[in-house]
Amino acid sequence: MKSAWSEREAQALVGRYALEGIGSDLALRIYSTRLLGGEPSLVLHGGGNTSIKALTTDLLGEVTEVVYVKASGGDMAFIDATRMPAMRLDRLRKLRTLERLPDEDMTLILRDALIDPMAPSPSVETLLHAFLPHKFVDHTHANAVLSLTDQEDSDLFCADVYGSRMGIVPYIMPGFGLAVRAAGIYELKPKVEGLILQKHGIVTFGGSARESYERMIEMVTLAEERLVKNRKAVFVSAPIPGPVAPLVDVAPILRGVVSIKDGHTEGAWRRPILDFRTSPAILNFVNGAELARYAQDGVVTPDHVIRTKIRPLILTIPEAGRPVEFKRNALKAASAFVEYYKSYFARHNVRAGGALRMVDPQPRVVLVPGLGLFGLGRTSCDAMIAADLATCAIETITDAEAIGRFASISEAEMFDMEYWPPEQAKLAEAREQPLTGQVAVITGAAGAIGVATAKAFMEAGAEVALMDLDETATEAKARTISPAAFAVRCDVTSAASVRGAFDEVVDVFGGVDIVVSNAGAAWQGRIGEVDEEVLRKSFELNFYGHQRVAQAAVRIMLAQGTGGCLLFNVSKQAVNPGANFGPYGLPKAATLLLVRQYALEYGGDGIRANAVNADRVRSGLLTDDFIKERSQARGVSEKDYMSGNLLGREVRPEDVAQAFVAQALALKTTADVMTVDGGNIAAALR
Ligand SMILES: [Zn+2]
Repeated sequence: MKSAWSEREAQALVGRYALEGIGSDLALRIYSTRLLGGEPSLVLHGGGNTSIKALTTDLLGEVTEVVYVKASGGDMAFIDATRMPAMRLDRLRKLRTLERLPDEDMTLILRDALIDPMAPSPSVETLLHAFLPHKFVDHTHANAVLSLTDQEDSDLFCADVYGSRMGIVPYIMPGFGLAVRAAGIYELKPKVEGLILQKHGIVTFGGSARESYERMIEMVTLAEERLVKNRKAVFVSAPIPGPVAPLVDVAPILRGVVSIKDGHTEGAWRRPILDFRTSPAILNFVNGAELARYAQDGVVTPDHVIRTKIRPLILTIPEAGRPVEFKRNALKAASAFVEYYKSYFARHNVRAGGALRMVDPQPRVVLVPGLGLFGLGRTSCDAMIAADLATCAIETITDAEAIGRFASISEAEMFDMEYWPPEQAKLAEAREQPLTGQVAVITGAAGAIGVATAKAFMEAGAEVALMDLDETATEAKARTISPAAFAVRCDVTSAASVRGAFDEVVDVFGGVDIVVSNAGAAWQGRIGEVDEEVLRKSFELNFYGHQRVAQAAVRIMLAQGTGGCLLFNVSKQAVNPGANFGPYGLPKAATLLLVRQYALEYGGDGIRANAVNADRVRSGLLTDDFIKERSQARGVSEKDYMSGNLLGREVRPEDVAQAFVAQALALKTTADVMTVDGGNIAAALR
């Protein structure tokens, strides 16, 4: 590993922070923290932490010695001064004399020592930094060091690589106990340049930010050099019987078998989002004959356990053309995983006097021989984190097995970490929304109603995929909603394009739960004289387009087996035809019946089908120019034209979007048509 330190960049940051009145030591601390955070083989997603001891002025204007430590759960790559809370060092050092310090007390004492009472909570590893005397302390979970210490013979490996340059700290869970032990080991050998925390990570320290950082790079490099010496071949592959089913067939089945019914609301499911990864290294790992041993021994560093659980779910090879068999095996494996997790919890909760509450027993990482790995989470972000950590674990375990035999911490130690209140607190911040865990696809998504609908579903917690003809325009619209919104090209007049677009959504999220079939366009013509070609074109888009989208969605929903929701943009023309609008209204009327047909035939599978009848919405169909022309022709203002309904209110794309969200949430409603037109008795359904 090479040092990424650039004196020019470091001084540039010092200059920028000086303008905010922040001194060069803290600025350099932030600079090297970002360097460490930018290297995924050192830390991932909030792992690791750094500190600096310095003088500061407290709120009363008194100069005080403090330690600045990274905030809990913060990402080192994006750290700034607001995420480095300062605490009074003398108060923290006093704790050193205690025999023990309960977690709840530690959390309160850390907050009590803050210079700024409004600052974010500091890292759970704060005391490790406070008890060491060095000005700069850096801590990472470097993969190479983990491969060296996640071993049955980790002492031998450490002595061989580091000699007397590093203190070796046996595994103790993070917190007060580890901080006391680490400081004690340092004091016995005050010449060491850092500490190896067995089965956890590495600490380096120094008098300057650069010294501490470059010691980290050097010590990790020594571990990396050891990992390329005397390697055994890993892993011997188990035989793969024949062609493996593609991801798009496997993911919805997997998503279904790991979903659980919501105990409170009939028809509701708790579904995960899936993030799939594969590579030659991942395949080498998941195809190994001894996968069950090395993949289930435990986490590579304790910090991962809240994101990955203590072990992954391992499935059988999904053979091409045999989905029923794969699903049966997957169901068996998933329910065995849940049983295992429940018994693990019960076994260790006894030690806590039965006081703890079990988190959901679903897996967070799934390994599929022949295919790759899946990270699972309630949101695409959580799934991504689980997949990143699983990929990191695979690299670490592969290297550990290449030089020895991978050995994690014990099951009890993993439990203590998983249910450690400061760790659970990191997860508790995430708020559940009504559609969290659901994947919503919107067609015609680059239009006014499409964008408003995608935005409304995202705000309700769903993951959204925007489909439209023009990929660039759709991508641009998606960016206006959220970086997590996914854009994909889809021509609903082509069955192949629809199928391909849905496959892409399954690739990205693992499945589909809600479809808003919204793509459409208007054609006009007096019905007795209109060219048949015009009518056919309109049917192709305004009827067959909906049918193709619904068919593609139902295929995935049935594979998942957790129900679903089909929503259609029908239009007032379906029930209240306007003169010259036959070519538009006729296929829309057929689509209204299509909604009922889906409701009838798939209700038994938990798939609902509903429609929204909207009228006079400013959009691609009803353009500003058209509104101007129509209102002038009628001799009314544009405003009066747009609000010419019973309520006297203009209908906006956001109103239509809210109707779709309401239908998605109404679990006992199917074959429904919701009218969003401000009131028009002639178009009322009954
Ligand atoms: Zn750590």
